[in-house]
Amino acid sequence: MTRSFTPPARVLLGPGPSDVPARVLLAMARPTIGHLDPAFIAMMEEVKALLQYAFQTRNGATFPISAPGSAGMEACLANLVEPGEVVVVCRNGVFGGRMGDLVGRLGGVPVFVDSPFGEAVDPDQVASALKAHKDARLVACVHAETSTGVLSDVRAIAQVAHAHGALVAVDAVTALGGVPLAVDEWELDAVYAGTQKCLSCPPGLAPLTFNERALAKVRARSHKTASWFLDLNLLMGYWGAGGRTYHHTAPINMLYALHEALVMLEEEGLEASWARHRVMHERFVAGIEALGLDMAVAPAIRLPQLNSVSVPSGVDEARVRRRLLEEWGIEIGAGLGELAGRVWRIGLMGAGSNVRNVNLCLDALRAALAG
Ligand SMILES: *Cc1c(COP(=O)(O)O)cnc(C)c1O
Repeated sequence: MTRSFTPPARVLLGPGPSDVPARVLLAMARPTIGHLDPAFIAMMEEVKALLQYAFQTRNGATFPISAPGSAGMEACLANLVEPGEVVVVCRNGVFGGRMGDLVGRLGGVPVFVDSPFGEAVDPDQVASALKAHKDARLVACVHAETSTGVLSDVRAIAQVAHAHGALVAVDAVTALGGVPLAVDEWELDAVYAGTQKCLSCPPGLAPLTFNERALAKVRARSHKTASWFLDLNLLMGYWGAGGRTYHHTAPINMLYALHEALVMLEEEGLEASWARHRVMHERFVAGIEALGLDMAVAPAIRLPQLNSVSVPSGVDEARVRRRLLEEWGIEIGAGLGELAGRVWRIGLMGAGSNVRNVNLCLDALRAALAG
């Protein structure tokens, strides 16, 4: 007989998922009710309001897609990109590259603005691309590039996009809750996120927000989006302000978890959460430097929630990760793409961004590097 699965005890300090507090896990264990039950619908309204707070927006079209962050990316682009449309895609890491792949699959024409992995997107290069491609109506970029640990100035990118008559679509999967993000003030048109990074929730939902300009572009489409599941017009029938109509069976218990995680964010306060991520990051960097290690990203563009640490020459990086996992129960991430084998990616995300984890990770690294 196959037995129940019991996961091993782990400390999740990789690029996501991050550790989920007991409060959030317990919320998931509450009884499943109907997805059109009035009590559930009242909770959905609270989830929308809490997400508006997390995103710092008044956008009515603010709700979670019933699938992970990648589906948020797909929902965002499937609704905004029409076949034949030119889209400027900022690529300074793996996720920017994925956005470009998706644009192509949707029949769009991606024009890449490339920056070396480990550097931020350059808004001037975005401006040059928009000048060279006057028909571009959308710029896609990643706020917090988890593959490299780099923060880009999406506010500046949005200003450049708008000056050229284009909208901006932003990946905030790792950004939300971990670094300042102000959707309305920064005039970000379409933004998606994830639950398993700085929101301390299991993976499986993708918060999304569209402003009026983005919704107008969706309404003006000449072709329906090819995706039935992610069609915003249909999703709004379930999540919108009007009477609820059946679209798909929402992942009820996952939404309990997101509700609880967002209640916790509201209790702490968004600014306090950003500040905690910053302070823990500074503590971690001081410890890394005291160990004689180097951070891989320049200080001004480092993500506090995802720390790329350079692997010293002569060190077997996979062995260090394996020792952390086997001897300490700590999961950290390897480098991706161009950075494979060159960095460790150490996440201090959500509730996991705390003094105990910083000290634990530094102690474990010290021991693993000592041989
Ligand atoms: C994790 C991540 C994604 C993908 O989210 P999934 O939940 O893994 O599908 C997209 N973009 C960024 C920047 C991420 O960090």
